[in-house]
Amino acid sequence: MKKIAVLTSGGDAPGMNAAVRAVAKVALAKGMEVYGVRRGYLGMVHDEIFQMNGSHVSGIIDRGGTVLLTARCLEFKDPKFRAIAAENLKKRGIEGIVVVGGDGSYRGADLLSKEHGFKVVGLPGTIDNDIIGTDYTIGFDTCLNTILDAMSKLRDTATSHERTILMEVMGRHAGDLALHATLAGGGDGVLIPEIEEPIEMLAYQIKERRRQGKLHDIVLVAEGVGSVFEIEKQLKEKVTTEVRSVVLAHVQRGGTPSGFDRVLATKMGAKAVELLEAGEGGVMVGIESNELVTHPISFAWEGKRKYDIRKDYELALTLCK
Ligand code: ATP
Repeated sequence: MKKIAVLTSGGDAPGMNAAVRAVAKVALAKGMEVYGVRRGYLGMVHDEIFQMNGSHVSGIIDRGGTVLLTARCLEFKDPKFRAIAAENLKKRGIEGIVVVGGDGSYRGADLLSKEHGFKVVGLPGTIDNDIIGTDYTIGFDTCLNTILDAMSKLRDTATSHERTILMEVMGRHAGDLALHATLAGGGDGVLIPEIEEPIEMLAYQIKERRRQGKLHDIVLVAEGVGSVFEIEKQLKEKVTTEVRSVVLAHVQRGGTPSGFDRVLATKMGAKAVELLEAGEGGVMVGIESNELVTHPISFAWEGKRKYDIRKDYELALTLCK
């Protein structure tokens, strides 16, 4: 295969640039032509496709966000628009596509492959760590560290005012960010979408902590659990401490990628090019037990998650006391 394209799609994640850089540099080193697609599938439909050289990926490894830009493109669910995108790729002789994004982006790539014969490789780029078939996604580690930084700051003020702070973090379907932040940041409570916990449990935990003389509580709440303000309202009826909510929101997406994310993205980007060079496609790249692995791309929605979140959740509860 001589010509490949790379795009970032779905929500941006720190480390996406490192992945794009690796794809471009490794492909160029192998004598391939590399094309960048701007604005994800939207740019593919609107023909925002350009040939990349080394200068396009120079100085981007430490930058958050994505230099290729990203966008949602609902039209891509319609085969008519996928045909337009396919034509734009084919007229340049592009045969392989690397998409960095979440499972929605993989679905788009899978359809493009099945309908128009492209070889596609998906790289997991999302802060939520919610992609099946990989232990870690590109961007998760950086985001976790951003949350930990905010937690430390919030703890200072929470202790000074003896408050309970509910800290809402990202994670619509997966509680990984909230749970890992609890484990790494010494959180005092955690609510995640995978495990239903009655508000009474949390209230009991907070009262117990205060009985022990603790001056503050930082409770991590994954956004998928529901409105943090509603949880605050319910909690206020059950505890006597002052409860405040903080929504970290889009701050979590930004920032220079961590060393871990850069290395992960770089190795995955290189692997994607190797796969395409060998004529392989229809796969996603993951990391499992510290090894790069591949799965059929549909594993992201048909497979089963390896991570036993309940075990870590129980550990977190023990440490929250
Ligand atoms: P994240 O959830 O982390 O933001 P994602 O890749 O899952 O990442 P989505 O918004 O679900 O994000 O998908 C990104 C893009 O992929 C969509 O805007 C759309 O262009 C395309 N896409 C998603 N689902 C499909 C689908 N079922 N068929 C075709 N294209 C799809």
